[in-house]
Amino acid sequence: MEAVNAKDPYSPCNLCPRRCGADRTHGKTGFCGTSADVTVNLSMIHRGEEPVLGGPGGCGAVFFEGCSLRCIFCQNHRITKATGKGAVYDENGLADLFLKLASEGAGAIDLVTPVHFAPSVAKAVRTAKDNGLSVPVICNCSGYESVSTLRLFEGLIDIYLPDLKYHSRKASVKYANAPDYFTTAAAALDEMFRQTGKAVLDKNGIMTRGMIVRHLMLPGNLFDSKHILDYLVSRFGNNIYISLMSQYTPMPHILENEKAPEELKRTLSSGNYDKLCDYLADLGQTNAFVQEMSSSGSLMIPAFN
Ligand code: SF4
Repeated sequence: MEAVNAKDPYSPCNLCPRRCGADRTHGKTGFCGTSADVTVNLSMIHRGEEPVLGGPGGCGAVFFEGCSLRCIFCQNHRITKATGKGAVYDENGLADLFLKLASEGAGAIDLVTPVHFAPSVAKAVRTAKDNGLSVPVICNCSGYESVSTLRLFEGLIDIYLPDLKYHSRKASVKYANAPDYFTTAAAALDEMFRQTGKAVLDKNGIMTRGMIVRHLMLPGNLFDSKHILDYLVSRFGNNIYISLMSQYTPMPHILENEKAPEELKRTLSSGNYDKLCDYLADLGQTNAFVQEMSSSGSLMIPAFN
């Protein structure tokens, strides 16, 4: 495990598994598409997360710009690099934003794709907690994370909400140019589970601690999805929740791209999604969420700036 650059974690930046070494302190951007300016595209009360997250007040979602994985079909592709329309926050400002969302009723703070800003976000979460933030803090991320960077979140993140997207190298190369995706994400999930432990729900059924791993089923990838579920159930079982997502939506940039894989130009077949749900149940996983097939479509995508 390579350590985070102690002198300045953003220059050269090796915070994510891309380890591209960009100098993000002088306005340059790395593969993740962002400089060291912590940029939030959108913050909102979000009620579309898994039902154990946030409770009646919903989640206070904070959507960060940039992403170090950048899958070609991304539903949030408009904000996977700096847009010029986001708001830049320093650590105290970010802490204030978390506290504001909680004061508006959010039952959790949902940090969406924050890890390429981990040093700053960790400080902001610590400040917010020191200043009275009492709701759980969720790290909602791609799974393609470095263990050394996740350690910055030790004791600060209450709930990890990572994806586990691809099992085969073929799929992770084809869709994200990340041949090491599965092995890297497997190590990251182990670290997340080490930090949070077994899932804990309060008396109202709201999650206060633990891990929910999401898997977005892609058209034409039933076998890869089955391998993902085999792995998650054998590794963690009912100590975690598994959230099986059917909401894949072909975005215009995929539909209009002649070179995009044909299978990504259609939505998921309900038959294959049903098969995968049955497969998960047959594996004995009871801590699980599944989506209605009607979840596919642009309504699931926030109105980004
Ligand atoms: S977080 Fe961004 S700049 Fe840093 S190594 Fe990853 S892609 Fe490069």
